[in-house]
Amino acid sequence: MINLYGQEIKKLEELLISRGQKKFRATQLFSWIYEKKVTDFDEMSDVSKTFREELKRDFCLVQPKIFKKQVSNDGTIKLLLELEDGSKVETALMPYNYGNAICVSSQVGCNMACAFCASGLLKKKRNLEVHEMVGQILVMNKLLEERNERVTHIVVMGTGEPFDNYDNVLDFVRIANHPKGFAIGARHITISTCGIVPGILRYAKEGLQTNLAISLHAPNDEIRNKIMPISKGYPLDKLMEAVRFYEREAGRRVTFEYIMLKNVNDSIEHAKELVKLIKGTLAYVNLIPYNPVDENSFERSPDKAVHDFMSYLMKHGVNTTVRKEFGNDIDAACGQLRAKEHYEEERRKN
Ligand code: SAH
Repeated sequence: MINLYGQEIKKLEELLISRGQKKFRATQLFSWIYEKKVTDFDEMSDVSKTFREELKRDFCLVQPKIFKKQVSNDGTIKLLLELEDGSKVETALMPYNYGNAICVSSQVGCNMACAFCASGLLKKKRNLEVHEMVGQILVMNKLLEERNERVTHIVVMGTGEPFDNYDNVLDFVRIANHPKGFAIGARHITISTCGIVPGILRYAKEGLQTNLAISLHAPNDEIRNKIMPISKGYPLDKLMEAVRFYEREAGRRVTFEYIMLKNVNDSIEHAKELVKLIKGTLAYVNLIPYNPVDENSFERSPDKAVHDFMSYLMKHGVNTTVRKEFGNDIDAACGQLRAKEHYEEERRKN
Protein backbone atom coordinates (compact mmCIF):
# COMPACT_ATOMS: atom_id res chain seq x y z
CA MET A 1 0.00 0.00 0.00
CA ILE A 2 1.30 3.44 -0.91
CA ASN A 3 0.30 6.18 1.51
CA LEU A 4 -0.84 9.03 -0.73
CA TYR A 5 0.14 11.58 1.94
CA GLY A 6 3.77 10.58 1.39
CA GLN A 7 3.86 11.48 -2.30
CA GLU A 8 5.57 14.69 -3.35
CA ILE A 9 3.71 15.99 -6.42
CA LYS A 10 6.48 15.48 -9.03
CA LYS A 11 7.04 11.95 -7.75
CA LEU A 12 3.30 11.30 -7.77
CA GLU A 13 3.11 12.48 -11.39
CA GLU A 14 5.86 10.04 -12.36
CA LEU A 15 4.23 7.23 -10.41
CA LEU A 16 0.85 7.83 -12.06
CA ILE A 17 2.36 8.11 -15.54
CA SER A 18 4.15 4.79 -14.97
CA ARG A 19 0.71 3.34 -14.21
CA GLY A 20 -0.69 4.63 -17.49
CA GLN A 21 -2.48 7.63 -15.97
CA LYS A 22 -2.38 11.24 -17.11
CA LYS A 23 -0.06 13.67 -15.34
CA PHE A 24 -2.90 16.02 -14.27
CA ARG A 25 -4.27 13.27 -11.98
CA ALA A 26 -1.56 14.17 -9.46
CA THR A 27 -2.85 17.74 -9.06
CA GLN A 28 -6.39 16.41 -8.96
CA LEU A 29 -5.52 14.04 -6.10
CA PHE A 30 -3.63 16.76 -4.20
CA SER A 31 -6.63 18.99 -4.48
CA TRP A 32 -8.92 16.27 -3.08
CA ILE A 33 -6.74 15.31 -0.14
CA TYR A 34 -5.29 18.69 0.88
CA GLU A 35 -7.80 21.32 -0.29
CA LYS A 36 -11.04 19.39 0.11
CA LYS A 37 -9.58 17.21 2.90
CA VAL A 38 -11.29 14.07 1.65
CA THR A 39 -10.09 10.87 3.35
CA ASP A 40 -12.08 8.37 1.31
CA PHE A 41 -11.32 7.64 -2.35
CA ASP A 42 -15.04 7.11 -3.05
CA GLU A 43 -15.69 10.79 -2.38
CA MET A 44 -13.47 11.84 -5.28
CA SER A 45 -16.40 12.43 -7.58
CA ASP A 46 -14.54 13.57 -10.69
CA VAL A 47 -12.24 10.54 -10.65
CA SER A 48 -13.36 7.66 -12.87
CA LYS A 49 -14.72 4.55 -11.15
CA THR A 50 -11.95 2.31 -12.51
CA PHE A 51 -9.20 4.63 -11.30
CA ARG A 52 -10.93 4.90 -7.92
CA GLU A 53 -10.91 1.12 -7.66
CA GLU A 54 -7.19 1.11 -8.49
CA LEU A 55 -6.55 3.75 -5.82
CA LYS A 56 -8.50 1.75 -3.25
CA ARG A 57 -6.52 -1.36 -4.11
CA ASP A 58 -2.99 0.10 -4.05
CA PHE A 59 -3.13 3.36 -2.08
CA CYS A 60 -4.19 4.43 1.39
CA LEU A 61 -4.73 7.68 3.30
CA VAL A 62 -3.54 6.75 6.79
CA GLN A 63 -2.86 9.45 9.39
CA PRO A 64 -1.14 9.20 12.79
CA LYS A 65 -3.35 8.64 15.84
CA ILE A 66 -3.45 10.98 18.81
CA PHE A 67 -2.03 9.03 21.77
CA LYS A 68 -1.84 11.95 24.20
CA LYS A 69 -2.92 15.56 24.00
CA GLN A 70 -1.95 18.46 26.24
CA VAL A 71 -3.39 21.93 25.79
CA SER A 72 -1.81 24.83 27.63
CA ASN A 73 -3.50 27.95 29.00
CA ASP A 74 -1.80 29.99 26.30
CA GLY A 75 -3.28 27.82 23.52
CA THR A 76 -0.17 25.71 22.91
CA ILE A 77 -1.06 22.18 21.86
CA LYS A 78 1.33 19.33 22.43
CA LEU A 79 0.55 15.94 20.91
CA LEU A 80 2.13 12.55 21.28
CA LEU A 81 1.22 10.75 18.07
CA GLU A 82 1.21 7.02 17.51
CA LEU A 83 2.41 5.75 14.14
CA GLU A 84 1.45 2.53 12.38
CA ASP A 85 4.38 0.57 13.85
CA GLY A 86 3.56 1.77 17.37
CA SER A 87 6.38 4.37 17.41
CA LYS A 88 5.51 7.62 19.11
CA VAL A 89 6.49 11.13 18.07
CA GLU A 90 5.81 14.58 19.44
CA THR A 91 4.43 17.55 17.62
CA ALA A 92 3.54 20.95 19.03
CA LEU A 93 1.52 23.97 17.99
CA MET A 94 2.56 27.43 19.11
CA PRO A 95 0.02 30.24 18.64
CA TYR A 96 2.00 33.38 17.77
CA ASN A 97 0.26 36.68 17.11
CA TYR A 98 1.26 36.36 13.44
CA GLY A 99 -0.02 32.79 12.99
CA ASN A 100 0.06 29.17 14.12
CA ALA A 101 3.51 27.56 14.03
CA ILE A 102 3.80 23.80 14.19
CA CYS A 103 6.99 22.19 15.46
CA VAL A 104 7.44 19.03 13.39
CA SER A 105 9.51 15.97 14.37
CA SER A 106 11.67 14.42 11.65
CA GLN A 107 12.85 11.18 13.30
CA VAL A 108 11.80 8.70 15.98
CA GLY A 109 14.43 9.61 18.59
CA CYS A 110 17.70 11.32 17.69
CA ASN A 111 21.36 10.32 17.49
CA MET A 112 22.91 13.76 17.81
CA ALA A 113 23.18 13.43 21.62
CA CYS A 114 23.27 17.15 22.46
CA ALA A 115 23.91 17.25 26.21
CA PHE A 116 21.06 19.65 27.02
CA CYS A 117 18.32 18.08 24.91
CA ALA A 118 15.54 15.72 26.02
CA SER A 119 14.99 14.32 22.52
CA GLY A 120 18.40 12.67 22.47
CA LEU A 121 17.60 10.76 25.67
CA LEU A 122 16.12 8.11 23.39
CA LYS A 123 18.36 7.10 20.49
CA LYS A 124 17.12 7.20 16.95
CA LYS A 125 14.85 4.28 16.12
CA ARG A 126 14.23 5.26 12.53
CA ASN A 127 13.64 8.13 10.14
CA LEU A 128 10.11 9.45 9.76
CA GLU A 129 8.44 8.75 6.45
CA VAL A 130 7.17 11.70 4.42
CA HIS A 131 3.54 10.83 5.23
CA GLU A 132 4.37 10.78 8.94
CA MET A 133 5.57 14.41 8.80
CA VAL A 134 2.63 15.41 6.59
CA GLY A 135 0.41 13.59 9.11
CA GLN A 136 1.56 15.88 11.92
CA ILE A 137 0.10 18.84 10.01
CA LEU A 138 -3.09 16.99 9.07
CA VAL A 139 -3.81 16.05 12.68
CA MET A 140 -3.03 19.55 13.96
CA ASN A 141 -5.17 21.20 11.27
CA LYS A 142 -8.07 18.97 12.25
CA LEU A 143 -7.80 20.19 15.87
CA LEU A 144 -7.46 23.80 14.75
CA GLU A 145 -10.69 23.58 12.74
CA GLU A 146 -12.49 24.06 16.06
CA ARG A 147 -10.82 27.46 16.37
CA ASN A 148 -11.52 28.20 12.68
CA GLU A 149 -7.78 28.25 12.16
CA ARG A 150 -5.04 26.25 10.49
CA VAL A 151 -1.28 25.76 10.58
CA THR A 152 0.37 28.78 8.91
CA HIS A 153 4.04 28.28 9.80
CA ILE A 154 6.28 25.23 10.06
CA VAL A 155 9.48 24.77 12.02
CA VAL A 156 11.22 21.43 11.65
CA MET A 157 12.53 21.65 15.21
CA GLY A 158 10.89 18.70 16.88
CA THR A 159 12.66 15.44 17.70
CA GLY A 160 15.31 14.40 15.21
CA GLU A 161 17.93 15.92 12.95
CA PRO A 162 16.30 16.91 9.63
CA PHE A 163 19.56 16.68 7.64
CA ASP A 164 19.98 13.10 8.90
CA ASN A 165 16.69 12.39 7.03
CA TYR A 166 17.34 14.76 4.15
CA ASP A 167 15.28 13.34 1.26
CA ASN A 168 12.12 12.74 3.26
CA VAL A 169 12.29 16.17 4.90
CA LEU A 170 12.70 17.83 1.51
CA ASP A 171 9.68 15.99 0.07
CA PHE A 172 7.70 17.04 3.13
CA VAL A 173 8.73 20.68 2.66
CA ARG A 174 7.68 20.54 -1.00
CA ILE A 175 4.25 19.16 -0.10
CA ALA A 176 3.84 21.81 2.61
CA ASN A 177 4.85 24.57 0.21
CA HIS A 178 2.90 23.43 -2.87
CA PRO A 179 -0.15 25.59 -3.74
CA LYS A 180 -2.30 22.45 -4.02
CA GLY A 181 -0.67 20.97 -0.90
CA PHE A 182 -0.74 22.88 2.40
CA ALA A 183 0.11 26.07 0.47
CA ILE A 184 2.38 27.35 3.24
CA GLY A 185 4.75 30.02 1.91
CA ALA A 186 8.44 29.08 1.78
CA ARG A 187 9.28 31.99 4.06
CA HIS A 188 6.96 30.49 6.65
CA ILE A 189 8.94 27.24 6.69
CA THR A 190 12.11 26.81 8.76
CA ILE A 191 14.44 23.84 8.96
CA SER A 192 16.73 23.66 11.97
CA THR A 193 19.98 21.69 11.93
CA CYS A 194 22.60 21.00 14.58
CA GLY A 195 25.22 21.77 11.91
CA ILE A 196 25.55 18.87 9.48
CA VAL A 197 27.80 20.57 6.94
CA PRO A 198 27.10 18.39 3.86
CA GLY A 199 23.37 18.90 4.46
CA ILE A 200 23.77 22.69 4.56
CA LEU A 201 25.83 22.67 1.34
CA ARG A 202 23.23 20.53 -0.40
CA TYR A 203 20.33 22.55 0.94
CA ALA A 204 21.94 25.75 -0.38
CA LYS A 205 21.39 24.49 -3.91
CA GLU A 206 17.75 23.43 -3.64
CA GLY A 207 16.53 26.80 -4.86
CA LEU A 208 14.07 27.12 -1.99
CA GLN A 209 13.12 30.37 -0.30
CA THR A 210 12.71 28.65 3.07
CA ASN A 211 14.54 29.64 6.25
CA LEU A 212 17.49 27.81 7.72
CA ALA A 213 18.25 27.84 11.44
CA ILE A 214 21.50 26.53 12.84
CA SER A 215 21.78 25.35 16.41
CA LEU A 216 25.06 27.00 17.37
CA HIS A 217 24.84 27.20 21.15
CA ALA A 218 28.54 27.95 21.65
CA PRO A 219 31.03 30.60 20.53
CA ASN A 220 34.02 28.24 20.26
CA ASP A 221 34.82 24.58 19.55
CA GLU A 222 35.91 23.86 23.11
CA ILE A 223 32.47 24.56 24.57
CA ARG A 224 30.63 23.24 21.53
CA ASN A 225 32.49 19.90 21.66
CA LYS A 226 31.35 19.51 25.26
CA ILE A 227 27.65 20.06 24.62
CA MET A 228 27.21 19.04 20.97
CA PRO A 229 29.11 15.91 19.84
CA ILE A 230 28.35 16.72 16.16
CA SER A 231 30.86 19.55 16.52
CA LYS A 232 33.75 17.07 16.55
CA GLY A 233 32.83 15.98 13.03
CA TYR A 234 32.04 19.47 11.78
CA PRO A 235 34.04 22.09 13.70
CA LEU A 236 33.07 25.75 13.68
CA ASP A 237 35.41 26.88 10.87
CA LYS A 238 33.80 24.32 8.53
CA LEU A 239 30.32 25.26 9.76
CA MET A 240 30.93 28.98 9.15
CA GLU A 241 32.30 28.24 5.70
CA ALA A 242 29.09 26.35 4.94
CA VAL A 243 26.98 29.23 6.25
CA ARG A 244 28.79 31.71 4.00
CA PHE A 245 28.33 29.35 1.05
CA TYR A 246 24.62 29.07 1.85
CA GLU A 247 24.26 32.85 2.02
CA ARG A 248 25.90 33.27 -1.39
CA GLU A 249 24.26 30.32 -3.10
CA ALA A 250 20.71 30.52 -1.69
CA GLY A 251 20.75 34.29 -1.26
CA ARG A 252 19.26 33.84 2.22
CA ARG A 253 20.57 34.61 5.68
CA VAL A 254 20.54 32.00 8.45
CA THR A 255 19.44 32.27 12.07
CA PHE A 256 21.80 31.04 14.76
CA GLU A 257 20.00 29.47 17.69
CA TYR A 258 21.84 29.95 20.96
CA ILE A 259 20.53 28.38 24.18
CA MET A 260 21.56 30.44 27.18
CA LEU A 261 23.06 28.00 29.71
CA LYS A 262 24.09 29.37 33.09
CA ASN A 263 27.89 29.50 33.54
CA VAL A 264 28.44 27.56 30.33
CA ASN A 265 28.10 29.98 27.40
CA ASP A 266 26.36 33.09 28.77
CA SER A 267 29.09 35.56 29.80
CA ILE A 268 30.06 38.80 28.06
CA GLU A 269 33.34 37.10 27.09
CA HIS A 270 31.28 34.52 25.23
CA ALA A 271 29.24 37.25 23.57
CA LYS A 272 32.50 38.86 22.40
CA GLU A 273 33.68 35.57 20.92
CA LEU A 274 30.31 35.05 19.26
CA VAL A 275 30.42 38.46 17.58
CA LYS A 276 33.87 37.62 16.19
CA LEU A 277 32.78 34.18 15.06
CA ILE A 278 29.78 35.31 13.03
CA LYS A 279 31.28 38.56 11.74
CA GLY A 280 31.00 38.75 7.96
CA THR A 281 27.78 36.70 7.86
CA LEU A 282 24.33 38.29 7.62
CA ALA A 283 23.01 36.04 10.37
CA TYR A 284 20.55 36.81 13.13
CA VAL A 285 20.95 35.36 16.59
CA ASN A 286 17.97 33.91 18.42
CA LEU A 287 18.70 33.48 22.13
CA ILE A 288 16.75 30.57 23.59
CA PRO A 289 15.81 30.40 27.26
CA TYR A 290 16.82 26.90 28.35
CA ASN A 291 13.95 24.54 29.01
CA PRO A 292 15.05 22.49 32.04
CA VAL A 293 15.26 18.73 31.52
CA ASP A 294 15.23 16.47 34.62
CA GLU A 295 17.92 14.16 33.26
CA ASN A 296 20.71 16.75 33.08
CA SER A 297 22.11 19.43 35.35
CA PHE A 298 22.13 22.48 33.08
CA GLU A 299 20.52 25.60 34.44
CA ARG A 300 18.78 28.46 32.74
CA SER A 301 20.71 31.75 32.56
CA PRO A 302 19.32 34.53 34.77
CA ASP A 303 17.29 37.17 32.91
CA LYS A 304 20.01 39.75 33.49
CA ALA A 305 22.63 37.58 31.79
CA VAL A 306 20.35 37.12 28.80
CA HIS A 307 19.66 40.84 28.66
CA ASP A 308 23.34 41.81 28.90
CA PHE A 309 24.32 39.21 26.32
CA MET A 310 21.69 40.50 23.92
CA SER A 311 22.69 44.15 24.47
CA TYR A 312 26.29 43.33 23.71
CA LEU A 313 25.39 41.59 20.45
CA MET A 314 23.06 44.39 19.37
CA LYS A 315 25.67 47.05 20.19
CA HIS A 316 28.08 45.20 17.93
CA GLY A 317 25.74 45.07 14.96
CA VAL A 318 24.26 41.59 15.42
CA ASN A 319 20.49 41.44 15.09
CA THR A 320 19.29 39.51 18.14
CA THR A 321 15.95 38.26 19.44
CA VAL A 322 14.95 36.22 22.49
CA ARG A 323 12.66 33.28 21.81
CA LYS A 324 9.14 33.56 23.18
CA GLU A 325 8.23 30.70 25.46
CA PHE A 326 5.09 28.61 25.23
CA GLY A 327 3.26 26.03 27.26
CA ASN A 328 5.09 26.46 30.55
CA ASP A 329 2.35 24.48 32.28
CA ILE A 330 2.76 21.41 29.99
CA ASP A 331 5.70 19.21 28.94
CA ALA A 332 6.65 21.63 26.20
CA ALA A 333 10.41 21.03 26.08
CA CYS A 334 11.51 19.10 23.06
CA GLY A 335 11.15 15.37 23.59
CA GLN A 336 9.98 15.54 27.19
CA LEU A 337 6.52 14.14 26.62
CA ARG A 338 7.82 11.23 24.58
CA ALA A 339 10.66 10.43 26.99
CA LYS A 340 8.27 10.51 29.95
CA GLU A 341 5.81 8.20 28.21
CA HIS A 342 8.65 5.83 27.29
CA TYR A 343 9.92 5.63 30.88
CA GLU A 344 6.40 5.05 32.18
CA GLU A 345 5.90 2.22 29.69
CA GLU A 346 9.20 0.64 30.77
CA ARG A 347 8.12 0.89 34.41
CA ARG A 348 4.78 -0.73 33.67
CA LYS A 349 6.58 -3.62 31.91
CA ASN A 350 8.94 -4.29 34.86
N1 SAH B 1 18.22 18.62 15.33
C1 SAH B 1 17.79 19.95 14.97
C2 SAH B 1 16.32 20.22 15.24
C3 SAH B 1 15.73 19.72 16.53
S1 SAH B 1 16.21 20.58 18.01
C4 SAH B 1 18.67 20.98 15.63
O1 SAH B 1 19.53 20.62 16.40
O2 SAH B 1 18.52 22.15 15.33
C5 SAH B 1 15.42 22.14 17.89
C6 SAH B 1 16.05 23.23 18.73
O3 SAH B 1 15.73 23.08 20.13
C7 SAH B 1 17.56 23.23 18.65
O4 SAH B 1 18.05 24.54 18.54
C8 SAH B 1 17.93 22.61 19.97
O5 SAH B 1 19.25 22.86 20.29
C9 SAH B 1 16.91 23.22 20.90
N2 SAH B 1 16.78 22.57 22.20
C10 SAH B 1 17.01 21.28 22.52
N3 SAH B 1 16.81 21.05 23.84
C11 SAH B 1 16.42 22.23 24.38
C12 SAH B 1 16.07 22.64 25.70
N4 SAH B 1 16.06 21.79 26.71
N5 SAH B 1 15.74 23.94 25.89
C13 SAH B 1 15.73 24.82 24.85
N6 SAH B 1 16.05 24.48 23.59
C14 SAH B 1 16.40 23.21 23.34
